[in-house]
Amino acid sequence: MTPSAAAGGPTLLAVAGWPVGHSRSPQMMTAALAELGLDWRYLMLPLAPERFAATVAALPGSGYVGLNVTIPHKLAALELADTATDAAASIGAANTLSFDRDGGVEADNTDAGGLLDAIGDPMADKRALVLGAGGAGRAAAWALREAGAEVAVWNRTADRAAALARELDVRHAERYEAPDVLVNATSVGLSPKLAESGVLEAFDITSDGDVPSLLVDLVYGDEPTALCAWAQRGGAVVIDGLEVLVRQGARSLERWTGESAPLEVMRAAARGAIARG
Ligand code: NAP
Repeated sequence: MTPSAAAGGPTLLAVAGWPVGHSRSPQMMTAALAELGLDWRYLMLPLAPERFAATVAALPGSGYVGLNVTIPHKLAALELADTATDAAASIGAANTLSFDRDGGVEADNTDAGGLLDAIGDPMADKRALVLGAGGAGRAAAWALREAGAEVAVWNRTADRAAALARELDVRHAERYEAPDVLVNATSVGLSPKLAESGVLEAFDITSDGDVPSLLVDLVYGDEPTALCAWAQRGGAVVIDGLEVLVRQGARSLERWTGESAPLEVMRAAARGAIARG
């Protein structure tokens, strides 16, 4: 029996962030729960940082079995958890909390596994370059290193990349070096027009010879990003941010429900939500 069933209401899930209005998780997860035939609700919780810990503490007793966490709460989510998976503990951030019947909280980071699921190919001995040393860059660098890739991290603010590289025992790339696998984990490049997106200039990518074999662009919009289009023209396999969003959500959902996530339904719902803006 779930905690919420004990309380008599529906079983609840949510995404918490500040702001959180941009999140596509409610549409994606609601469609998935319906497809699984579960009468659960997935809500949106706008939570200011000063209210995060107290609100989360009240959730297990209020029918919640889990919570997705987005900016700026990923660090706080890890800190308040009783236990953490290797991924969450090593990355130093959590995007998924699971509540047990006694109110215990476990933290996980499904951004890491979700990235590898989206890639779907073995990464052993691949040269991977992660652009960005924020939360997403950190999860990507850890995931690729765990999967056996030779990882380098580049960041606009070089000191952050150097610190991340030291901490995760990967290499700091001081400039763009054409890799086998390129992951854009910066917030640059939403515009689908290459000149407007500024991506090649931002990363100092100069020629078609710089195209990787595989690109993952965590940035996503309702059209392919300029970086995705550039890599595709150069013959790369391209994985967009929507697929990574779906795969991290699928891992959270499977953790909470014990069911296989309906990936195609989740893709369609996320795509629809993005198109509606
Ligand atoms: P974050 O912690 O705020 O980090 C932002 C990163 O972008 C930093 O490395 C920052 O570099 C870099 N950056 C910002 N403006 C730049 C510019 N003009 N030129 C070069 N680099 C620039 O954000 P995050 O949580 O890591 O998220 C990063 C991106 O990934 C966002 O677009 C987010 O939407 C996306 N994301 C997607 C998924 C998914 O499931 N698809 C999951 C997580 C995140 P500095 O350190 O120099 O400021």
